[in-house]
Amino acid sequence: MDKEKREAYYIIFEKLIDSMNNPDEFHRERFVELLNEFCDLFHIAKGVTEFYKTFKDERLGNGEVIIDRDNGKGDIPVIERRIITKAKAIVKGTLYISKDDEPLCEEELRKVDLMLRAVLAFVSRNRLQRAMEDFAFKDESGYPNFRAFLRFIGQMKEKGGLYGYTAACYNLYHFSVINREIGREAGDMVFRSYYMLMSETIGDDGIVCRLGGDNFIMIFRNEVTDAVLDILEGVPVAYDKNGESRVEISSSAGLFVADKDFVLQSEGDIMERIMPTSQSARHEESKRILFFDEKMLKKKEKMMRTQRRFPEALKKKEFKVFYQPKVNVFTGELVGAEALCRWIRNGKIVPPGEFIPILEQTTDICKLDFYMLEAVCMDIRRWLDKGMNPVRTSVNFSRKHLVDVDLLDHIMYIIDSYNVPHNYIEIELTETTTDVGFKDLKRVVNGLQEQGICTAVDDFGMGYSSLNLIREVPWNILKIDRCFLPLDEYNKYSTTSLMYRHVVSMAQEIGLECVTEGVETAEQVEILRRNHCEIAQGFFFDKPLPVDEFETRMEKHIYELP
Ligand code: C2E
Ligand code: MG
Ligand code: MG
Repeated sequence: MDKEKREAYYIIFEKLIDSMNNPDEFHRERFVELLNEFCDLFHIAKGVTEFYKTFKDERLGNGEVIIDRDNGKGDIPVIERRIITKAKAIVKGTLYISKDDEPLCEEELRKVDLMLRAVLAFVSRNRLQRAMEDFAFKDESGYPNFRAFLRFIGQMKEKGGLYGYTAACYNLYHFSVINREIGREAGDMVFRSYYMLMSETIGDDGIVCRLGGDNFIMIFRNEVTDAVLDILEGVPVAYDKNGESRVEISSSAGLFVADKDFVLQSEGDIMERIMPTSQSARHEESKRILFFDEKMLKKKEKMMRTQRRFPEALKKKEFKVFYQPKVNVFTGELVGAEALCRWIRNGKIVPPGEFIPILEQTTDICKLDFYMLEAVCMDIRRWLDKGMNPVRTSVNFSRKHLVDVDLLDHIMYIIDSYNVPHNYIEIELTETTTDVGFKDLKRVVNGLQEQGICTAVDDFGMGYSSLNLIREVPWNILKIDRCFLPLDEYNKYSTTSLMYRHVVSMAQEIGLECVTEGVETAEQVEILRRNHCEIAQGFFFDKPLPVDEFETRMEKHIYELP
């Protein structure tokens, strides 16, 4: 080996070592260039590097093969090296020369061998890191996982936040149906292609990760929003090699566009916006792509606050019964009342619309209803003991109760423990939800009936199964929702007028007592009379009243009629 060649060798060697020792500034092209210069110097015709994660992979030939040098004349292997890393991965390197070239002398062989070992050590370090990375940041099918998402958010935080980006969570629409239609294997292919399309559209500035199942979460630059929306709304995806068989794939999604003021502190700031939004989008038939708005978050926060405060509030008896009178429109007599709940919180009255729907999301509503029934029984007991003449009072029971097989016993237990005659209590059940079967409803209404407790269908006309519901279940009272009550008599033949008239007469034919809700004007009282609906409940006579005011109404007993 002459001096000149030795010097050239040192220069390349040093550069190669430098390039490998500085992973942050590693440039693959530069590295390959140097390797080739090195090979030129020693007439190496071909170099092959192999990487196997395990012995088994090596046996099966299941690894990565890298060939960065091949001038087509590599006939004779001159050096072979195989190293096993601590993690039991295998890296192999083989160098070839041409049979036309002179064999390497001993010094040359030593130098080439040294170089080869350095490269193999470098490759093993690098590949292992990547294998580890895959292990930590990809799921079992090779999709980036939630950890990858968290890491990305961490990087975004360092770069100054989410402004200019959109975060989203999406769920493939009816993918199980597609799987059934085209088969599992084709389904997998479609699944991956759709992901690839999304991922390529988003590019390196963003990320798409799989949360599990067919749920994905992503962040992308606002510049690609339109393209992303196109994919979410539906694209044809091929499921054979030639791309002839296609199926349309779309998603439901919740998106959050960060504005300037959005402060990204942790992933929670993003999750709490996109997860509930995507949940709503999933259950929405008409609009499957929803953008987060602050109002929704407020609503959710309020919901959680209410649910959290409820147990304490119940214990402290912050819920009060307000009584709304029911009046006979022919005689002016006070004939009944409805118990309506009010939450007195910090001296303010919270109307039920603000907390009943929230309590109905759990079984908290059932606790409240029993509490109300008990409070009503206590009042009636007190009135009776004072020698007053109480009226039949209705208590609202949520449909949530219907699945409770002990409901009837529970109601009777409360009424009887205050020794309240059964004819003073009425139970109102709404017809608006359709999710509980008739069977439960019939069982409960029948049971109450046997005990002499009246039952009322509340809000009749708001639901869907109205006619069936009143035919099949032995109710006593029909409460007609105020949406059925005409505002005035201006047009006797308007749909509302006609429907109201027929509902009232139908109820009477079946033998149901009729109450019209929401009677606000003298004109409406007149409409009731003309249609022979005897009982009115509404602001015209009274709003729901606190108990002391209601007591004075009871004493007076008669209302003035228009
Ligand atoms: P609901 O059972 O249909 O009660 C009648 C609602 O109509 C009451 O609203 C009452 O204040 C209102 N109302 C009465 N007359 C008029 C009127 O002339 N004009 C208008 N615009 N409204 C009138 P409120 O008290 O806000 O209660 C709303 C709903 O909350 C009730 O509707 C009932 O479904 C539910 N709710 C109230 N208390 C309870 C309870 O203790 N348990 C259960 N499960 N639900 C309750
Ligand atoms: Mg009611
Ligand atoms: Mg009602």
